[in-house]
Amino acid sequence: MNHDSKILVTGAGGFIGGWLVGELLKRGYRQVRAADIKPLAQWHQLFKDAENLGLDLRHREACDVAVRGMDQVYNLAADMGGIGYIENNKSSCMLSVLINTHLLDAARKFGTARYFFASSACVYAADKQRSTDVVPLREEDAYPAMPEDGYGWEKLFSERMCRHFEEDFGLTTRVARYHNVYGPHGTWDGGREKAPAAICRKVAEAKLSALHEIEIWGDGEQTRSFAYIDDCIAGTTMIMKSAVEGPINLGSSQLVTINRLVDIVEEIAGVRLRRRYRLGAPTGVRGRNSDNSRILELLGWEPAIPLEVGMERTYRWIYDQMAARVTA
Ligand code: NAD
Repeated sequence: MNHDSKILVTGAGGFIGGWLVGELLKRGYRQVRAADIKPLAQWHQLFKDAENLGLDLRHREACDVAVRGMDQVYNLAADMGGIGYIENNKSSCMLSVLINTHLLDAARKFGTARYFFASSACVYAADKQRSTDVVPLREEDAYPAMPEDGYGWEKLFSERMCRHFEEDFGLTTRVARYHNVYGPHGTWDGGREKAPAAICRKVAEAKLSALHEIEIWGDGEQTRSFAYIDDCIAGTTMIMKSAVEGPINLGSSQLVTINRLVDIVEEIAGVRLRRRYRLGAPTGVRGRNSDNSRILELLGWEPAIPLEVGMERTYRWIYDQMAARVTA
């Protein structure tokens, strides 16, 4: 792609958005605009070579300011978090529909060439995710629809709006369904963190204190796959550039139980912890994995960074953040 292309990344103060801005600058794009609702001081990563804007993108006027003059838009802004957050904040998660709606409309109005929407594996129908040895989810498994309540419905609706803006107005839209992305510079405390970061934090806490115990939500036998951030960013830019129409999975197919994920982090940290299971805690669906046939067929690529490698980098980063706080 042309390096003079003007690119907007929304949600740039967050985890994936921050990495994406960094990668685009590294690839030589000179005009990257980054937008997020958070004050700049709270952005996970801030790049001085980008144009950094504080905007609440639920509002039409803010979306106009963000999109005007841009050739490409990556929409990664959403009110979201791990399962504990999305189960308890359904209406807030659904209000992200305003962000995608106004961004799409601004992109149509200002003649943006390409538009990317970050969707989620939470769009998949609940009845296809009832067992731990789940059949990996294919793109068509989102219908008949029964997604994750709140957050998943918003993603499914917004995916469809992307499709219809393409059909009705000729705006090229690309949609990836992310499956549990993790890595350094993600949220690791405060209530919005997801399982990989939460487990790293809990293991690091146990290591930094004398209390060798860990709380696990549910019985720990629920299964998931986790995609490392470098794979997510590589896949995101590939999908944006591609001719792939319709939503496509962007996730690892390395399925693990949460108990196994805890084993991996314990091995990295060099500790063994007593496990305390909180059976009533939010756990989401029983099993979920990504079927990567479509991305392999269309792009000849799939996420491949092993969980053990990605978790090692993530654990080290979270441990360092916590250790720095302790000594501050
Ligand atoms: P994140 O929470 O770190 O980043 C999202 C960012 O959006 C935050 O910085 C937040 O401040 C910003 N935002 C929220 N409301 C906004 C508003 N009204 N105006 C402007 N900015 C606003 O999350 P992330 O993990 O980086 O996720 C990025 C995108 O990918 C989201 O759309 C998310 O739903 C999607 N996704 C992520 C995962 C994952 O595992 N991380 C999985 C599936 C889908």
